[in-house]
Amino acid sequence: MPKPQEQDDALDALITGGGPAGLTAAVYLARFKRRFLVVDGGSPRAAWIPKSHNIPLFGDCIPGPEILRRARAATERYGVRLLDGLVTGLRKQPGGTGFLAILEQKGSGAARQLRAKRVLLATGAVDVEPELPDLTDAVRRGLVRYCPICDGYESRDQRLAVIGHGDRGLAEAEFIALTYSDDVTLLTLGQPMELDDARRERARRQRIRIVEAPIAALEVQGDRIAAIRTGGGERYRFDVLYSALGLKYRSDLGTALGARHDPSGALVVDGHCQTTVRGLYAAGDIVRGVDQIVVGMGHAALAATHIHNRCDLPLEEEGGEVGSGRS
Ligand SMILES: Cc1cc2nc3c(=O)[nH]c(=O)nc-3n(C[C@H](O)[C@H](O)[C@H](O)COP(=O)(O)OP(=O)(O)OC[C@H]3O[C@@H](n4cnc5c(N)ncnc54)[C@H](O)[C@@H]3O)c2cc1C
Repeated sequence: MPKPQEQDDALDALITGGGPAGLTAAVYLARFKRRFLVVDGGSPRAAWIPKSHNIPLFGDCIPGPEILRRARAATERYGVRLLDGLVTGLRKQPGGTGFLAILEQKGSGAARQLRAKRVLLATGAVDVEPELPDLTDAVRRGLVRYCPICDGYESRDQRLAVIGHGDRGLAEAEFIALTYSDDVTLLTLGQPMELDDARRERARRQRIRIVEAPIAALEVQGDRIAAIRTGGGERYRFDVLYSALGLKYRSDLGTALGARHDPSGALVVDGHCQTTVRGLYAAGDIVRGVDQIVVGMGHAALAATHIHNRCDLPLEEEGGEVGSGRS
């Protein structure tokens, strides 16, 4: 594949983020023989997955780091160049010629500019972490989890706790109670749950216990959580904890250009995964919807194909209504 060009010679595309979504787009664009660069900050959410069971291509389950290794290897086959660094700024170029990006290569400290006709944001999201002792180790071992869609099936019929509060926390507890277990407790970590009578009654009918006391300790024995101790000294026993405190979407580059987003910061896209900014695409967790690997790969395939079909046109000449799915 031709080398990415710098400064005056605009790339066909810049892929920002080298997680499952960005790397899928890279394979597609490489196979379309496009000139592009992938810039990756090196902190993919996918690296946290202890074992993924819900990707049918890996029926025996696969750890997140292995997914990333295989995806990187797939791009290497085409000579795709990955730059370890960050895209720190993005501007639209005058005259519909595309975008000017500011890049910072890891270790160099120096910023440089690069022009690209189209940009794909695949920068993902970061989990809001609960304040728990030994959290990192507990996540890596699958004792504290973030995504019941991903691995709730493996926890079925066990004693499950959900860390969360407000509507989001209760909704996650309800989803788990409906789908996976009759033994569900919502741990609000000291936040009071202000539920109206109807909501409290619904939680009671689903047998969701609500514990509003702060958590003082997570007692782990071998490969299981032995108990949770509250500040008041009470001990609760669970097999698995799910954290439902939400995600912080890394969508700043898009929102700074005026891309539409939902209240949580996730970007709104059309059927081609184009944002409401013409020529700016998004794929993966950063897109409003279900935060899953196969979904992000689907976004990436759609976006890369549309980029390939359109990127030789000046942005204004693309026609159609941007962000509506009719472009
Ligand atoms: C514990 C856990 C378990 C999970 N289990 C599963 C599972 O079993 N199945 C499943 O489908 N999903 C699972 N998920 C969700 C899955 O990890 C995400 O859906 C997936 O990683 C999203 O891929 P992505 O490419 O959008 O983002 P990411 O994987 O987060 O990659 C984004 C990349 O963009 C980079 N980046 C960010 N900003 C910039 C910037 N400005 N410039 C350059 N690079 C940047 C980051 O450094 C990162 O490398 C799990 C998540 C967690 C936390």
